[in-house]
Amino acid sequence: MSRIYQIEPGAPAIVSIKNLNKHYGPFHAIKSINLTVKRGEVLALIGPSGSGKSTLIRCINLLEEFSSGSIVVDGVNVEKGKNLAKVRAEVGMVFQQFNLFPHMTTLRNVAIAPVRVRGASWVEAEVRAKQLLERVGLGEHTHKFPDQLSGGQQQRVAIARSLAMEPAVLLFDEPTSALDPEMVGEVLDVIQSLAATGVTMLVVTHEMAFARKVADRVIFMEKGELIEQAPPENFFDNPQTERAKNFLRSIVRTPAEVPATGAGL
Ligand code: ADP
Repeated sequence: MSRIYQIEPGAPAIVSIKNLNKHYGPFHAIKSINLTVKRGEVLALIGPSGSGKSTLIRCINLLEEFSSGSIVVDGVNVEKGKNLAKVRAEVGMVFQQFNLFPHMTTLRNVAIAPVRVRGASWVEAEVRAKQLLERVGLGEHTHKFPDQLSGGQQQRVAIARSLAMEPAVLLFDEPTSALDPEMVGEVLDVIQSLAATGVTMLVVTHEMAFARKVADRVIFMEKGELIEQAPPENFFDNPQTERAKNFLRSIVRTPAEVPATGAGL
């Protein structure tokens, strides 16, 4: 465990998910999931493709409407038709595709939400945006447009943009899947640096070395169920269920095989 940030023993739950179910028509995509996330915790959500990881985190910021159960984020009840603006203010999301505004500089991309949603002035929002871009290693690129940046740099702008709203929790949906391999490490390094400063994060990832190194807890899902959750060293070295053992046997890139990058083991 390389974390600098220490979660307080009695830290309150910042995300509380109870008996969550999600159906797509007749298909039961999320099956009675219960999950609590403490302030400052980093969860890595792993499991086979189609196991419901993305659906689960999309329910947390109401990109998907869930069928039953409850989600509370920092005291805000996540409910369809209610509190959407409040929920989106509490829950940041970083996608596979970066979805930056192509006609705006990186500085504007990061500053715009606080101005439009929070009513911040451009001056204060841009001062803050500059700090955030420095935090993700892009202080030199504030006046560039997205198409002048690499994919890894664009994803780091997207992370800074999410942080600008000061969310209670930050969700990542396979943040490195759309990147060329040589850019994966720089994005994972930024996520790791956020973990070190106590940003609460749920990260859907296929990067097992990253999960092992950065997460406080691994959440293993299969077929819509939460099968196992444990600190990474326990999960990877001593999985408890047959399903987790089979999954770990099936993945090609085990942590030990991943080449050493900044985010590697
Ligand atoms: P994962 O993130 O683990 O790969 P997803 O959450 O994307 O899994 O998908 C879980 C299951 O729900 C998959 O079987 C997928 O095909 C299905 N699914 C996801 N989105 C939809 C949708 N909009 N309509 C119907 N089925 C969906």
